[in-house]
Amino acid sequence: MYSIKEQTKEQLAEWLKAHGQPAFRATQIHDWLFKKLAMTFDEMANLPKALREELAADFSACALEIETAQTDNDRTVKWLSRLHDGHTIETVLIRAPKRNTVCVSTQVGCQVHCVFCATGRQGFARNLNVSEIVDQVVLASREAGELVTNVVVMGMGEPLHNLQNLIPALEMICSPDGFGLGARHVTVSTSGVPRGIRQLADLQRPWNLAVSLHAANNELRSKIIPPKFRARIEDIRDAVAYYREKTGRMPTIEYVLVDGLNDSFDDASALADVAHDFHAKVNLIPCNSEDPRFAPPPAEKCEKFLSVLTKRNLQATLRMRKGKNIRAACGQLRQAEEES
Ligand code: SF4
Repeated sequence: MYSIKEQTKEQLAEWLKAHGQPAFRATQIHDWLFKKLAMTFDEMANLPKALREELAADFSACALEIETAQTDNDRTVKWLSRLHDGHTIETVLIRAPKRNTVCVSTQVGCQVHCVFCATGRQGFARNLNVSEIVDQVVLASREAGELVTNVVVMGMGEPLHNLQNLIPALEMICSPDGFGLGARHVTVSTSGVPRGIRQLADLQRPWNLAVSLHAANNELRSKIIPPKFRARIEDIRDAVAYYREKTGRMPTIEYVLVDGLNDSFDDASALADVAHDFHAKVNLIPCNSEDPRFAPPPAEKCEKFLSVLTKRNLQATLRMRKGKNIRAACGQLRQAEEES
């Protein structure tokens, strides 16, 4: 079944005409979908019931069927949603004062297989289509009570392996004809796909780019990301430089801190060199894996690592862990559901 959101205005107008409906209905439907964040045709109260039924027979209003929703004490919400073919994906809403951020998935599973990641371990099934990506924003926005303030493309999957659907989804999220979210409030996080970074850069949209390096040299990185989809740091750096040049945005290096693996003073010092080379900010993330081999370093060690970076005049942050009681790290909820 076709998603109504993916119909162009012309296609929708044609459909309405063929069903004997006046043209203004297109604006009403559009309003329900993109301004009032409707997930069903039944909610579209100013449309005649017969029209709502006809729409429901030809289109889907939402690609997601909520399987489970879990809320943590810090009000982080995590959903597992079922797709039309039975696959499941995760979406997380992270709340902060004056800020509601949705973390969206772009694939069912992931081909990159980072060692600490539950999604990677589950293998790869398929790319999400445009509405499956966009409807995660709708889901989180409804929970937040208004359009989310930020979208981070950091959930299940490598977003740059699904650029063909990610790009139209982001355009729909940011376009005034869609949800109208400011492009600077969107962050795309990649494990480092130079070709995809360049393709994204060529669009010259001011979306933020975050690159998950997790290591400051290729040898250490090879212990974290298997070879098939691992690019050399030098190639990622060149692609990131191109992104910066095309978009004017300062990139972020994401660095998952794993106890005893990449958290030494020397690692921090090497990361500082790389971050300067990338002209990037750094976001440190204590590892949140269920695999005991990939534990987070003690808090004090994380702080020391951070101070090495800040003393080198880098913008660096240590990310607070949110949603820890609901397995909010990517892929953990889906894995738990499948094992239960
Ligand atoms: S961390 Fe991201 S890129 Fe790595 S396996 Fe998990 S989903 Fe894929």
